[in-house]
Amino acid sequence: MWKDNNNKLEELYINFKKIKKFPTICPICKKDKSHIYMHIYDEKTRRGGLWIWCSECQTFLHGSIYVPDYWVNYPLIELEKLNAVPIYLEEMKDEIDRHTTKIANKKIFNFTIKKDV
Ligand SMILES: [Zn+2]
Repeated sequence: MWKDNNNKLEELYINFKKIKKFPTICPICKKDKSHIYMHIYDEKTRRGGLWIWCSECQTFLHGSIYVPDYWVNYPLIELEKLNAVPIYLEEMKDEIDRHTTKIANKKIFNFTIKKDV
């Protein structure tokens, strides 16, 4: 059973810049099984959803946010399948982790360039 709304998972969103690889360590069960996904519903306002979940202990967090500039939607997500509970996202976790890892690393790359200039 999926357990809703554990605020400890928010750490992953706050520390997103520092995490280079997903799945990453779950702040609750400490297993290397937690994921993050955001989805922009409206490109103009950047209004969207945030999901953070752990495949191991099945804890999740879902909320409505203004999606940060660095984020890009995963193109194969079917909007109508998105739900507060991350069952659909869990099925796609390998693809999503690859996507999230790419975004995380691009951000670090840009940061490094800026620092060198
Ligand atoms: Zn966990």
